[in-house]
Amino acid sequence: MPEGHLLHRYARDLHADLAGGRVAASSPQGRFDAGPVDGRAVVAAEAYGKHLLVRLDDGATVHVHLGMRGVLLRHEGPGAPPRGGVRLRLATADVAWDLIAPTTCELLDDGGVARLVGRLGPDPLRDDADEEEAVRRLHAAGAPVGVAVLDQAVWAGLGNAWRAELLFLRRLLPTAAVPDEDGARELWRLSRRLMLLGRDAGQVVSDPDAPDERWVYKRVTCRSCGAEVRTAQLAGRTAHWCPAEQS
Ligand SMILES: [Zn+2]
Repeated sequence: MPEGHLLHRYARDLHADLAGGRVAASSPQGRFDAGPVDGRAVVAAEAYGKHLLVRLDDGATVHVHLGMRGVLLRHEGPGAPPRGGVRLRLATADVAWDLIAPTTCELLDDGGVARLVGRLGPDPLRDDADEEEAVRRLHAAGAPVGVAVLDQAVWAGLGNAWRAELLFLRRLLPTAAVPDEDGARELWRLSRRLMLLGRDAGQVVSDPDAPDERWVYKRVTCRSCGAEVRTAQLAGRTAHWCPAEQS
């Protein structure tokens, strides 16, 4: 599933391509009513956690959640033939963006956007995120740290790969209690620092010196110490950790 760093990357690229101009909107697949979007000017594209928001000049917002299989494809030129299953195409004179297989593609008014954002916790990738609120919500979650960080109402944007790598770097077992205030703050700041690198790289980055490597996520042995990586289901996803270095 695309995690927050990829949604922020999409938002940045969409904003660069679309903001300030009018878009031709269509639904080649026919499963989205693109009429209200067609011909509107895009004010901004932004991400909030794993949600993408494309704000239009009439106050409406296109809300997208990619879910497990959704993708966004960018084509040079507005006339590229769409692949099958394009729910929404947004095109300018220069580019076309195709949205394929999202779990959500809908138009929201301001109230709808406020309700959506109101369900989400602070997003480490957003400059307006409130660090104190992030620490408070992590402690208020009343759950193991590996459950709390996947709860989008606690922190928005982290998924399974970030959970594994960030908890390894903080030497926290996924099943351990949430760390104390200093520990929670360190985890938040580490999340922000690495997820920003991940946004720019287009992938999870947990070792800036080896951006293609992982410490424990989907590994057989720990990249740091060689111990056999343990796995268990936690919050509906497979958690990965090093039994020698995380406690
Ligand atoms: Zn290890």
